[in-house]
Amino acid sequence: MVDAQQDWIARDHAVNWHPYTQMKTATVIPIVKGEGAYVYDADGKRYIDAVSSWWVTLHGHAHPYIAERVSKQLYQLEQVIFAGFTHPPAIALSERLLQLLPSRQAKAFYSDNGSTAVEVALKMAVQYAYNLGQPKNKILAFRNGYHGDTFGAMSVSARGRWTAPFHDLLFETIFIDVPNQDNIEALKHIVDQHQQQLACFLYEPLVQGAGGMLMHEASYLSSLMAHCRACNVLLIQDEVFVGFGRTGTLFAANQLAEQPDMMCFSKGLTGGTMPLGLTTCTQKIYDVFYHDEKSRALFHGHSFTANPLACTAALASLDLLLLESTQQNIQKISQLHHEFVATVREHRQVRQVRSCGTILAIEWEIGQESSYFSDLQQRLYVFFLEHGILLRPLGNTVYLVPPYSISEEDLRYIYACIIEALKEFQST
Ligand SMILES: *Cc1c(COP(=O)(O)O)cnc(C)c1O
Repeated sequence: MVDAQQDWIARDHAVNWHPYTQMKTATVIPIVKGEGAYVYDADGKRYIDAVSSWWVTLHGHAHPYIAERVSKQLYQLEQVIFAGFTHPPAIALSERLLQLLPSRQAKAFYSDNGSTAVEVALKMAVQYAYNLGQPKNKILAFRNGYHGDTFGAMSVSARGRWTAPFHDLLFETIFIDVPNQDNIEALKHIVDQHQQQLACFLYEPLVQGAGGMLMHEASYLSSLMAHCRACNVLLIQDEVFVGFGRTGTLFAANQLAEQPDMMCFSKGLTGGTMPLGLTTCTQKIYDVFYHDEKSRALFHGHSFTANPLACTAALASLDLLLLESTQQNIQKISQLHHEFVATVREHRQVRQVRSCGTILAIEWEIGQESSYFSDLQQRLYVFFLEHGILLRPLGNTVYLVPPYSISEEDLRYIYACIIEALKEFQST
């Protein structure tokens, strides 16, 4: 008799190449079903999806409301070219989103994922200056940032082992630290020095996700944004990860005193059900492309731009997100995270613990024993899987980004397992 689970694994290994994975040493778990905060493998084992499947799932897996809406749309119109044509789901989605955004965002430009949403924003910023007859081609970005894996997005993200093979092909970016009380004046000075060449400042607001769930204060970011604006440096706010409730407010922008010129969305945009990217911009940006001369247009597009099914999923996800009960869940998760931070802050194995809305991060103290801890990430990953929890540590940082539908019981179970792990994986 063939074990179903082993069969899937063998067939997968024969044909599939997985993302961010050394295939020689990797193991994969075949998942055959999702429901709420859980995913189930082929053996029927249940895992709590504590990272929302790479930060995308907002309302739980296989949500019946989203499934029904997308299914209906599938019989109505599955896809149509978005150049020269439009359709109701894209119109309705842009209308609703632009109204919800706490900034002066006036136009929506669709693509397929977070990286392309960033590429579009970068091209808008650079061509904005070009169309004005004052070309600028430098980008300002944060150290430890992450904006995607395409060449443009890689160029403005932190450089590391992953990007090393491509370094000669990446364009030069001006990197600065995230702002705080001590460095804010120095950062403004860097903006002053480069303002003639700076097309834009691109940043992840409040939380730098892939960089290790690093957090910074809204007030200093707002201050830096205001300074960029005064220097005519366009602001691109990458809310691909933090958008749609992650930081406790609908958007990170709700916590900032200053508003961006462009915004990027993906991940939670469709509630995590379908790929969709979105770049929004203010009227000021749009107007510089709006002209009798054809060459002033933004020549960018993807085959599946504004796919009707993905737009419908996004509309359904928005309905769920705006429910009073969902908003209460977001506040509840934020509150429980906050309490857990206070509980483990003094633990000797905790170097630092922090939370922002529904995002929680715990950095392991690894001391000098780096050899013992060189495989900490993998050991923690396996430890949590054995406890029925899907967590994917970033180096020595364990983080939680749960779907908003997660139960208090499951959340408390995860906290308890983290405390158990803190006891099990000790550096001293
Ligand atoms: C994940 C991410 C991206 C890239 O999105 P993809 O859909 O994976 O291409 C861009 N910016 C931020 C902040 C992200 O977290």
